Amino acid sequence: MSYQLIELDIQATDNIQCLHCQQHVINWAEEQYIQPCEHVLFIAMDIGFEYMTDEFEQTMPRSVDDLHAHDDQVNMFAEIVKSTYPDYLIFKSDLGIEGYFRYVGFTA
Ligand SMILES: [Zn+2]
Repeated sequence: MSYQLIELDIQATDNIQCLHCQQHVINWAEEQYIQPCEHVLFIAMDIGFEYMTDEFEQTMPRSVDDLHAHDDQVNMFAEIVKSTYPDYLIFKSDLGIEGYFRYVGFTA
């Protein structure tokens, strides 16, 4: 295990900022609210991935396409933490649906 899980105490409608460069990587003021900076490895929800770098995907045992093809049987968080990426942070935040979360991965 080489990740650190940080649970954000924010609402589903709040922006999420990069801890390195302060960019709003989830920015609800933008039509395209996914605004990854160079420090973002992935942006995922329990129900699927919204963004992932090729570099991070290569460290996962299964491809994103494969996971999405089986998204009714796959636990996305469990798949993310199977990554062999050396050191990363996961920001976990409420998705606004009971029991569902968003996960934003950053370089450490
Ligand atoms: Zn950044």
